[in-house]
Amino acid sequence: MWELTIPRTIVVGEGALEYLKEVTGKRVLIVTDKVIHKLDFVEKVANYLKEAGLEVKVFDEVEPEPSIETIMKGAEIARKYGPDWLIGLGGGSCMDAAKAIWPLYANPDIEVAEINPFTKFELRKKAKLICIPTTSGTGADATWASIITDAKEERKMELPSREMVADIIILDPELPKSMPPSLVADTGLDALTHAIEAYVSQWRNDFSDALAIKAIQIIFKYLPRAYRNPEDKEAKEKMHNAATMAGIAFGNSQVGIAHAMGHSLGAIFKVPHGRTVDLFLSYSIEYSAREAMERYADIARAIGIEAKTDEEAVEKLIEAVRRLDREMGEPASIKELGISREDFEKRLDDLVTRAANSSCTFMNPRVPDVEDIKKLFIYAYEGKKVDF
Ligand SMILES: [Zn+2]
Repeated sequence: MWELTIPRTIVVGEGALEYLKEVTGKRVLIVTDKVIHKLDFVEKVANYLKEAGLEVKVFDEVEPEPSIETIMKGAEIARKYGPDWLIGLGGGSCMDAAKAIWPLYANPDIEVAEINPFTKFELRKKAKLICIPTTSGTGADATWASIITDAKEERKMELPSREMVADIIILDPELPKSMPPSLVADTGLDALTHAIEAYVSQWRNDFSDALAIKAIQIIFKYLPRAYRNPEDKEAKEKMHNAATMAGIAFGNSQVGIAHAMGHSLGAIFKVPHGRTVDLFLSYSIEYSAREAMERYADIARAIGIEAKTDEEAVEKLIEAVRRLDREMGEPASIKELGISREDFEKRLDDLVTRAANSSCTFMNPRVPDVEDIKKLFIYAYEGKKVDF
């Protein structure tokens, strides 16, 4: 038996934001950050909701990689205000924050760390959730987990609950238009990592496969265009859709060691999520190919790579991933991220422990032990080809 969790309504294409005029209810709490608040998106969203007769309040204190404290503060505001809709508006951090605030709002006695897949939180008795991504990559709008940072412990908490899935996702291509190229690259390559890891994950299934492979095709075709030309509307819209497709795929499959290692590096050295997970993607393919050769070869062929053998196809896929990274100025090694050898070596054991304990590690097609994870970090620091 396999339970799939999929967002109920996805509104796509030009003018999608106007769908908000059809929302029925009383009060909305928009969860967002200061940058998004400064752009006119919040006002636009609020105006449509007001047109629908709803009252609107904005909580704009979400920081990148949101902390436990922010979630608690947001939940407190929600409890006082009593919204029947929560809206996560922004990048992955804003949507993850809205998702995590939800169970705390519905259950005032619980703590952030108590969000888990086994408890019934009865979320919809209090409110429903709308996710409106303004970047194209995190897939946080489509998944049923929230990534929250425990700053004191320097760790990322992966908090899942199948109830925590959006009722409505709005993918309006107008919103990601203002992303700077470096953000297009970081978020787009995060989506690519989601889709590739979902396709080879041990929990892959026919449904996640279909969405993952289509997302990979779209990303290889349109991400370079979206990066090079901010005015390329078609490329931006395609990337916006692909990010959510990859999100549904990995939400119903899983990600693997590129995410386990990326979360670990990101929490300790404060590097943006997309940049860290993408950095590990090519190394993770080199390492995992032994256990998933056919799957990676499928991906290679789906993006038009011609090869006589699966091995050759996978070699060419790794080269294609590295070429895409180079094209978008992404670092190819931990060293290139600007982390000194001394700092890296000082924190290496912590990096390894965190990655080894991540649930993503166990879903990888080849499950590494602690020794292998350590070697992978060292190889990724030096930019060496994985040969073990
Ligand atoms: Zn990711």
